[in-house]
Amino acid sequence: MNKKSIIANLIFPNINETINDLEKKYPPRDLPNGAIVTRFAPSPTGFLHTGSLFTSLVSYRFAKQTQGVFFMRLEDTDQKREIKGSGEKVLEQLLIFGIKPDESYLHPGKYGPYIQSERKNNYDIVIKEMLLKGLAYPCFCTHEELSDIRKEQEAKKLLPGYYHEFARCRYLSDDEVIENLKQGKDYVIRFKSQGKLDERVVLEDEIRGRIEFPKNIQDVVIRKTDGLPTYHFAHVVDDHFMRTTHVTRGEEWMPSAPIHLEMFEQLTWDKPVFCHFPVIMKLDDGKRRKLSKRKDEEASVDYFLEKGYPIEGFLEYLMTLANSNFEEWRLANPKASIFDFNLEFSKMSLDGALFDLEKVKSISKEVLGNFDKHTFTEKALEYAKKYNQELYLVINKDIDYFKQIINIEREQEKPRKDYEKFSDILDIINFMYDDYYEELKNNVTYNERFEKSFLIEILKAYKDIVNLDLDQETWFAEMKELALNKNFAKNGKQYKKDPDNYHGHIGDFAEILRLAICAKNSTPNFYDVLKILGEKRVKARISDSIKLLEK
Ligand code: GLU
Repeated sequence: MNKKSIIANLIFPNINETINDLEKKYPPRDLPNGAIVTRFAPSPTGFLHTGSLFTSLVSYRFAKQTQGVFFMRLEDTDQKREIKGSGEKVLEQLLIFGIKPDESYLHPGKYGPYIQSERKNNYDIVIKEMLLKGLAYPCFCTHEELSDIRKEQEAKKLLPGYYHEFARCRYLSDDEVIENLKQGKDYVIRFKSQGKLDERVVLEDEIRGRIEFPKNIQDVVIRKTDGLPTYHFAHVVDDHFMRTTHVTRGEEWMPSAPIHLEMFEQLTWDKPVFCHFPVIMKLDDGKRRKLSKRKDEEASVDYFLEKGYPIEGFLEYLMTLANSNFEEWRLANPKASIFDFNLEFSKMSLDGALFDLEKVKSISKEVLGNFDKHTFTEKALEYAKKYNQELYLVINKDIDYFKQIINIEREQEKPRKDYEKFSDILDIINFMYDDYYEELKNNVTYNERFEKSFLIEILKAYKDIVNLDLDQETWFAEMKELALNKNFAKNGKQYKKDPDNYHGHIGDFAEILRLAICAKNSTPNFYDVLKILGEKRVKARISDSIKLLEK
């Protein structure tokens, strides 16, 4: 047995398969011409990042548009950072957004396992062959030795890293390696780079075009002491054998592309198409920075789910970030599903996409305004069940009543956009429920310009005339007539001209009624509110308010 084989067998005594076996195990996918295979490869570090949702949405759409495959691979090789259960959570959240991987560890296809730690055998097979071919070698350097190398490089102002003459273990003889292994010394396995200083490599990025980099010269670690691969190596092996055609990932990975390109080259594997997506940025004190897990609550998809932003609105927003022509398409196709939009790599923005919470809000208002009352209620219930018990109870008390309330000025040509997110609902409509009203009424404060006795006079007068069988126009005309009789100006303009001659204007008059009946000074359309409450309750609430004023 030659010495390279002895080394390879000392490290991998139980690996008997070859790269060729893997090629057979994972044959090219049988897909229509032009179909692309993308993947979403989250690390299980706790939650779905807004940027990752963006990446997965776009990757998913590209695959689906071409009758291709979108799969999810859990990248759990950094076991120190792993948070148990986060893989399930991420999958669950993708599904909430309608992003359904064709293959994942929950629905494995033929290219699995879909969890990297379970693919260890594949990496080991490839590494064993790399050792035999001299494309990789074990490195026994200790932390101290590595730190000495770093210090020397710093002192000489040289490029840091493990390369060329600094890559000490590259130069160990096979006998020394065998001896070290036999002694049981700790080791990692490094890629043996062929790169030379001053050489260049070109990345043909599908989004950014041609980008030239210095060639990789680093002998990067491909297998750690714990036996698991590093990201760089696992990405190359997995995307090769899982037959990914397009590696769609955040642009933070672009600087590492030369390492990956060299690995594909040394292993003589076809390179996938690389698509480096813009990173989602945020304006902070006028400066752009990456949306950060630690600093920004909106960096977590949970934030939007917990607040009850509508899924459809959030997806819509992410599509505006993805392709510059999405909004134009939306104007032309107001009712179409976002999934009918054809994404194009060439229309992806090149600078980091700026996350605009205000825009998320306005799109959400639009989306919530356009739901019919049944859809709105169904989605509100779904939200409330998970995140808002109080709202859940309120809706369920009387679903038809709830529908009437949220249907005020909905289902019409230009619906009102009262709600930005489901968590807004209670604040806006709680007064429609008597138990909330009972509490709210105690905190009402009327404009101090009006004497209590005058308020009582107005409320009594209104209680006498209120008639909710009238249509809105006539109802309003009657209220206005009463206001004018009580010496309120017919509008703000008239009042402003001559404030001493009036108690206020019609708006002030309506506010008094609104405060008495709703215990709030702003409500959805007042006439509709009164109609839904019904004359009896309206009168009872006016009497309640009169009593409170008389106290
Ligand atoms: N696990 C890597 C991450 O979460 C995946 C990058 C990639 O898509 O290749 O950033």
